[in-house]
Amino acid sequence: MMEQQHQVDRVLNGDVRAAARLIRDIDDGIPAAKTVLKALYPHTGKAYVIGISGFPGVGKSTLVDQMIQQFRAEGKRLGVLAVDPTSPFSGGAMLGDRVRMQRHGTDPEVFIRSLATRGHFGGVTRSTQSIIDVLDAMGKEIILVETVGVGQDEVDIVTTAHTTIITVIPGMGDDIQAIKAGILEVADIFVINKADREGVERTRNDLNAMLEMNDSNGTWLPPIVETEAVRNRGISELLSQVENHKAFLFGGDRKCLRERLRKRAWKDLTDTIKETVTTEIIDRLQALPSFDAMIDGLVDKQTDPFTLCEDLLEEFYAGKEKDGVPVAGQKDR
Ligand code: GDP
Repeated sequence: MMEQQHQVDRVLNGDVRAAARLIRDIDDGIPAAKTVLKALYPHTGKAYVIGISGFPGVGKSTLVDQMIQQFRAEGKRLGVLAVDPTSPFSGGAMLGDRVRMQRHGTDPEVFIRSLATRGHFGGVTRSTQSIIDVLDAMGKEIILVETVGVGQDEVDIVTTAHTTIITVIPGMGDDIQAIKAGILEVADIFVINKADREGVERTRNDLNAMLEMNDSNGTWLPPIVETEAVRNRGISELLSQVENHKAFLFGGDRKCLRERLRKRAWKDLTDTIKETVTTEIIDRLQALPSFDAMIDGLVDKQTDPFTLCEDLLEEFYAGKEKDGVPVAGQKDR
């Protein structure tokens, strides 16, 4: 406990080593990390989180690198998180050598981490949110979260951001169709990177056509920004659009901001419950002596997993005893 308090203080003071260790513990699912996270939670919510998503190779890390450069020129303290939910087995190796960002590696105000996304604390999104909280509590003013891919996992991850940037490149055609579902609702800014290539107009038209179909309720209409990340072109325009979006969120009655924070909190709590409750119930049920017999029952096709699950749940909620063991009721730990 003493040691954990010490770690809390160190993270709050922006100590890089303490934060790095905590992030590793979160990724590894070390229970003590939760104690630290609990203490840090009230100190979070100050950082501005920007999510950058898109298929591999569209230039996300090049873009992020240029954004880091620009934010640093403004004197901002930065946290950068690269998440790859598509490769849970790579152990983050793919992201481990994000060479393009390494030029900022020696800058003490830039804290860069890659996440292997084992998601031990209730999934990838939950772990990512915890790590964002650590960077936030450390005093980072801007947090950039880069995710590979544009599927549901990635969408969930980017929803943790205040501003979500979806990156595409000219000539993606069908790929743009592929990212339609789910992404449209979460995209705050579209970037057409590699604008030096042919087909920018076409891609812009495709995006516009998509946006027109989407009823934005007269709120925020996602702008489309052209960039050429390798040559640092369009980055200022991108950052000023981020600024515009921030002004939109924080202006007026802040209903959109509140809505966004509520969505995030909803997901956060749901994921946490899923992880904790499921683990707890499964642990108890698997410890039942009759669990083995049930497995045999399945193999011999005497019953099916749905019926078994329903029966088990019924007993669980009734707080009944099974095999002389209380299935539910008292918490005996
Ligand atoms: P990521 O996988 O989305 O992070 O993409 P990277 O940032 O690794 O970039 C993939 C490749 O595209 C690299 O070789 C970059 O140099 C290149 N690239 C990035 N931005 C641009 C650009 O604006 N124009 C061109 N032509 N190439 C770019």
